[in-house]
Amino acid sequence: MSDGDIRAVAIERIARLSYADWKTQHDRGVGYDGEGGAAPEWADAPGDSGPKLAFLTAAGESVDAIGDLLGPGETVVRLLRDLIDPIPCRRDERGVCRAHGQVPAGPDRLCPHDEAKRWLADHRPDGDAGER
Ligand SMILES: [Zn+2]
Repeated sequence: MSDGDIRAVAIERIARLSYADWKTQHDRGVGYDGEGGAAPEWADAPGDSGPKLAFLTAAGESVDAIGDLLGPGETVVRLLRDLIDPIPCRRDERGVCRAHGQVPAGPDRLCPHDEAKRWLADHRPDGDAGER
């Protein structure tokens, strides 16, 4: 999933949650049309005006603010792919990777090449995570 796809999914999820909360509160009150009617469901609400547009706009601003804090994810993923050695790790009895000369940073840690490959496989399964 590209950063653009993740952004779009995140915006819709946040906006839907906000809309659902607003709809619940609204439908308990005066009603969507001023005559006691319920607000439309998300799928039926117009997206070019009204509450749905307001929630989508607010969610977009929130997601972009979070994105600014997290940094350029795809650039980091690309660099990670470039830096991973495709040669498989070979751990000795002490856990030291003989292929990369890496001593794991802790008892539950692997060679950084193995950890990076596993992270990519979990977080970018559609991409090339290299040899494991
Ligand atoms: Zn290794």
